Amino acid sequence: MIFEIVRTLLHYSLHFLVPILLGYLFWRKNWKIASLLMIGTMAIDIDHLLATPIFDPNRCSVGFHPLHTVWAALTYLAIWFLPSWKLKAIAVGCLFHLFTDSIDCYLGGLKPNLTITMSCDKTHVIPDFSNNIFI
Ligand SMILES: [Zn+2]
Repeated sequence: MIFEIVRTLLHYSLHFLVPILLGYLFWRKNWKIASLLMIGTMAIDIDHLLATPIFDPNRCSVGFHPLHTVWAALTYLAIWFLPSWKLKAIAVGCLFHLFTDSIDCYLGGLKPNLTITMSCDKTHVIPDFSNNIFI
């Protein structure tokens, strides 16, 4: 019970407080707008509405919901290269959102589903880095 409370507090702190810290560290002159843009990337959770049930505590968002896939992450990474600090803040916010959700999956003992099915009927499995890439 205590662990779940700490897990939830950590999850929402990472979603709402760390973007403020990142905004201050990387866009000091515009840290308030940058922070709000990064917090606003919570909007990618709108893809939960496509799932049934909308929220499942035993499901890892990463690799399941369309805006939480490897393809989405690559798109966010591409956005980072665009010449706009606001778009960079959004890209960082989206990537950090995926990182935060990955931490939550890890703490919940859930495995991200990073299987990509190609149109040629071959299944390619992306290695599971969730347990060691960021930690
Ligand atoms: Zn999410």
